[in-house]
Amino acid sequence: MSSVNMEGPAFNRLPPWVKAKLRPNAIETIQRVYDWVETECVPAEPIYKAQVAKNKWVTPPLINELRQKAKAQGLFNLFLPNHFKESPGLTNLEYSCCAEIMGRVYWAAQTMNCQAPETGNIELLAKYCNDEQKEKWLKPLMEGKMSSAYSMTEPDRASSDATTIGCEMKIGEKEVVINGRKLYGNVSYNEDMQIYILMGCSDPTNPDPWKRHTTLVVPSRAPGLTIKRHLTIMGYDWAPEGHGEYVYENVRVPVENIILGPGRAFEIAQGRLGPGRIHHCMRLIGQTERAYELALIRCIDPQLKPRGKFIGEFDSNIERIAQMRLQLDSMRLVVLNAADTMDLLGNKAGKYAIAQSKVLVPVMAAKIIDECMQMYGGQGLTQHTPLPEMWTYARFVRIADGPDSAHRHQVGRDQLKTAPAVKVRHQAYQKKHKELCEKWGVDYVAFGGTDY
Ligand SMILES: Cc1cc2nc3c(=O)[nH]c(=O)nc-3n(C[C@H](O)[C@H](O)[C@H](O)COP(=O)(O)OP(=O)(O)OC[C@H]3O[C@@H](n4cnc5c(N)ncnc54)[C@H](O)[C@@H]3O)c2cc1C
Repeated sequence: MSSVNMEGPAFNRLPPWVKAKLRPNAIETIQRVYDWVETECVPAEPIYKAQVAKNKWVTPPLINELRQKAKAQGLFNLFLPNHFKESPGLTNLEYSCCAEIMGRVYWAAQTMNCQAPETGNIELLAKYCNDEQKEKWLKPLMEGKMSSAYSMTEPDRASSDATTIGCEMKIGEKEVVINGRKLYGNVSYNEDMQIYILMGCSDPTNPDPWKRHTTLVVPSRAPGLTIKRHLTIMGYDWAPEGHGEYVYENVRVPVENIILGPGRAFEIAQGRLGPGRIHHCMRLIGQTERAYELALIRCIDPQLKPRGKFIGEFDSNIERIAQMRLQLDSMRLVVLNAADTMDLLGNKAGKYAIAQSKVLVPVMAAKIIDECMQMYGGQGLTQHTPLPEMWTYARFVRIADGPDSAHRHQVGRDQLKTAPAVKVRHQAYQKKHKELCEKWGVDYVAFGGTDY
C-alpha cells in the first residue's frame, strides 16, 4: 500500500479503473513527478525562456542542472516500458499518468530524459541494437549525455508513405555511402545533438517494397552532412533543439552502424512509433489542462468585469468551461485506454487505440486551447501567456509522427474489411423479418429499402 493521497491533484482526474491498476511504486513515482513539475519546472518557466534567448542553440544551464537532480532522484527515462531490461519499471499506463503531468511545462519532460524524439529513439535502440551498439549509443542517451534525432521525412516525397523514401544508401563491404536530403530532426547547432537515426533506401529494385529500406546511425558531424537551413515551425524556432533541412553528400558510415540489418527499416519504424504517439498525446492533455486553468483564473479575475460581470458569469463562458472539461476528460480516457491496450496486448494490437488517440487528441486540444485564448482576450494571443505556443504544439502534433488523415485512412480501410461480416448479419435480420411478416400478416418491406 502506498501512503500517497490518491485524491490529490496528481491523481484526481484519473478514472477509477486506472487508479485501481496503479502499483504502489508507480503511485509514488507519479506523485514525485507531480511534485517535481510543480516545484522545479512551473516556477522556472521564465528562467528557461531568458536562458534560451541569451544563447539560442545551447541547452539552458537550468535544464542541465535539473537533469542532474532528476537523475539523482531516479526520475530519469521513466517512459521505457517495464518489458525492457533497461526500464525503470513503469507500464505504459503508469507512465502515461506521468507524461500528462510532464506536459504541464513544454520542457519538463526533458529534465527527466523523457522528451521526444529521445523516447522513441531510446526505445528503438533498446529494442533492435546489439550489445556493442547499445554501449555506443543507447547508454549515453539514457544517461542524458547526448541527444539524437530520427530522420525519415524528405522534402520531395510524400513521407506519410514511407515506402517512397528515396535517400540513397549504397551498402558496401565495410561502409555505407549516403546521398540525399532530409527534413526535420533536431539541428546539430546544439552540441548535445550527436546522432541521426536515418532511414534510407538501400535496395530500390527489391520486389518487396517493405524490404527496400535500411535504418542506420550517422554521427551528426559526419563529413558530407550539412544543414542547409534551419526550419521554423509556424514561425517559432523551437530553440534550443530546432528542426533542420539536411543534405547528405557521399556521407560514409561503417556497416556496423546499420541497425537490425539491411532492408529491415520497416520492422524498426513500426516498433518505434506507437508509444511515442501516446506520449505526445498525454503531454498535450497536460498542457491543455494548464491552458484550461488559465481560462478558469481569467473567469474570476475581479479586475476584468465587462458590463459589470465576471467573465465566468456569462452563459457562453460557463458552457465553454463545461465543454472543455468534458472534452479534456474524454481525451484522457482514450489515451489511457490505448496505453492499457499496449500493456495488455502489445503495440501491434493497440494500433486502433493508438490511431484513435492520434486522430482525436491534437485536434481537440488545439480547439480547447483556442477557446482558452478567446476567453483570455487579446493577451491570450501574446507572449503574456503560453497559450500561442501551446496551440502551436497541438497543431504540429496533428502532422508530426504521421498526419491524422493517414491514421484515419488506415482505420477506415480496416473498418471496411468488416463490411462483409456486417452484411451477412443483416441478411439474417432480413430473412427473419420476412418470416415474421408472413407469420403476422404484415406487408414485407425490406430493411433500408433494399433486399441484400
Ligand atoms: C513539428 C514537426 C516535427 C517533425 N519531426 C520529425 C522528425 O523528427 N523526423 C522525421 O523524420 N519527420 C518529422 N516530421 C515530419 C512528419 O513526420 C511528416 O511531415 C509527416 O509524416 C507527413 O509527411 P509529409 O510532410 O511528407 O506529408 P505527406 O505525406 O505529403 O502528407 C500530406 C497530406 O497528404 C494526405 N495524405 C497522406 N497520406 C494519406 C493517407 N494515407 N490517407 C489520406 N490522406 C493522406 C493528408 O492530407 C496529409 O496531411 C515532423 C513534422 C513536424 C511538423
